[in-house]
Amino acid sequence: MPSGSTASPSLYRGRLAPSPTGLLHLGHARTFWTAQEQARQQNGTLILRNEDLDPHRCRPMFLEAMFEDLRWFGFSWNEGPDCGGPYGPYTQSARQPRYRSAFEQLLAGGFLYPCTCSRQDVLRALTAPHAGEDEPVYPGTCRLKSPSSVTTTSPCCWRFRVPDGSQISFIDAHHGPQSFLAGADFGDFVVWRQDGLPSYQLAVTVDDAAMRITEVVRGADLLRSTARQLLLYQALGWQAPAFHHCPLLTDERGVRLAKRHDALSLRQLRESGAAPEDLRRGWTTAFRAG
Ligand code: GLU
Repeated sequence: MPSGSTASPSLYRGRLAPSPTGLLHLGHARTFWTAQEQARQQNGTLILRNEDLDPHRCRPMFLEAMFEDLRWFGFSWNEGPDCGGPYGPYTQSARQPRYRSAFEQLLAGGFLYPCTCSRQDVLRALTAPHAGEDEPVYPGTCRLKSPSSVTTTSPCCWRFRVPDGSQISFIDAHHGPQSFLAGADFGDFVVWRQDGLPSYQLAVTVDDAAMRITEVVRGADLLRSTARQLLLYQALGWQAPAFHHCPLLTDERGVRLAKRHDALSLRQLRESGAAPEDLRRGWTTAFRAG
């Protein structure tokens, strides 16, 4: 929320996009804080989107904690699952028809092929690939399969055929010029899973476009995912937002903060009496930005 401002909001639209798969920690808070600051500085609109695509990992208790912890830390938003807005619903599990129609558009455009390989990356495709989790480059086993070769009895997922050898370049607001080589830095990625769910890459692209996000602020471990998403924007004929990837917060051993760092969850910090202002002051000194 552009706090205290009475001027009408600018065209800037940013988002916080947590997944209720665990407790939010200080690393999330720092990235989200940058997103909130960006929206405030530009007198823009901030959106909260509940990224609950993964039915096996998302839990109602984490969703509840997500709202509480965000509010406690000092976040507020203009549009979201709790307050609605013009581009709702703001919960991914309720947006299935939108993902399906983007999938149909990509299929009709000849960008996808059916893949019957059973691989970990297909299973993992629902969640954003954070540090150390990026999918291996797909060897292309099913690349020449035509969409008409699959029947309802042959379960398959659908992959985006990346233009091997093309450089996907963009200017990141924090890291400067970025360039990734399709087919080497990342390969044909999953767009639609065989269980009927869209992948993270498709869902986040559809939502950022549909919610008119003008700048995506998120962690630096998703830089490579941005290259994939830019291919989706291009294939769908949509204008891509600007990107700002924040340095990751690491622990004293240089390991990225993750759900396993329980002591640094906002919940535990709050229970131990920490004050959000002190945490914000401290994260520049107590942790290293990797
Ligand atoms: N829900 C994703 C996550 O929590 C968001 C990734 C993104 O901002 O694109 O990792």
